[in-house]
Amino acid sequence: VRKRDGKNGAKLYDETILDRARERAEIETDIEMAVAARWFESHFQPVINVQNGRIEGFEALMRLRHPKKGLLSPARIIEVAEETGSINQIGSIMLEESLANLQQISALPGLAHSYVAVNFSPLQFEPSLPARLAALVARHGIQPHRLVVEITEAVLMHDDPKVRKILDEIKAFGCRIALDDFGTGYSSLSYMSRFPVDIVKIDQSFIRSIGGDQPEVEQKNRMLVEGISAISHKMNCTVIAEGVETRQQHALLKQIGVDCAQGYLFYPPRSLLDLMADLQTCTSDLESLTG
Ligand code: C2E
Ligand code: MG
Ligand code: MG
Ligand code: MG
Repeated sequence: VRKRDGKNGAKLYDETILDRARERAEIETDIEMAVAARWFESHFQPVINVQNGRIEGFEALMRLRHPKKGLLSPARIIEVAEETGSINQIGSIMLEESLANLQQISALPGLAHSYVAVNFSPLQFEPSLPARLAALVARHGIQPHRLVVEITEAVLMHDDPKVRKILDEIKAFGCRIALDDFGTGYSSLSYMSRFPVDIVKIDQSFIRSIGGDQPEVEQKNRMLVEGISAISHKMNCTVIAEGVETRQQHALLKQIGVDCAQGYLFYPPRSLLDLMADLQTCTSDLESLTG
């Protein structure tokens, strides 16, 4: 933030700094209370097989259910929690919730083998992580391949041999690794060769332009999706498209041969209870959409 010129310049500057400090302090307090009182929830967004419309798994997305402010989205909370270190506690709660909830979801018809994909922050990549994950899936009686570890480039950026070792160990006992927001970082392609990736999630920014009002951008992003998909398949990775909102986008992804998709077109992220209710009623809609 740069101090602006003019009569009230200095005042504006001070207020902005103050507002940000206040907002941050408020989030920190919310996080502290939420950790203590367990206000965190895991919401679930189904991952749909593009070709046959079936649900293959669910992405777990953190929500903070604040008693006064309602349901809070994760982006800013995660950012602050990564700075204060409380992301480790939040991460543990999310893992526990996600695996416990997967057991309940598994009881629904056709979902006995579905997976849950949990988002991880760089700070969670400690040497003890693989053993903790192994113990957790064992305790919940879930086969390891039903837990997908979602990471972004931020986890891999340092090309730390430590991170590589942790990922290898996670793979060795059978969990899968997904590379999130693929294509938006600095060197997405090189991470594919250097780390043991099973799933590539094409970022929603590539999908969003399809059917938008800029034909040139659309054309180029379409080619990028085709290219990423082809490379991923050559490297034996499953491809998921994120942020699918229209039938047109879905039809194109199907034609390109993308394996799976997530997005508001199919399901938004929902609480466990809402999801379970949804899955009883929405399956037939989805079949008409993808059939
Ligand atoms: P992400 O992992 O890339 O998750 C996808 C985001 O896209 C989610 O936002 C989801 O609600 C949203 N989304 C799903 N379908 C659509 C769609 O059709 N259109 C649009 N515009 N958006 C869609 P959300 O839930 O706000 O999460 C934001 C980010 O916060 C996540 O991005 C992830 O990076 C992070 N995050 C969420 N939960 C956790 C967590 O438990 N741990 C960590 N470390 N990060 C998390
Ligand atoms: Mg994700
Ligand atoms: Mg993503
Ligand atoms: Mg993201």
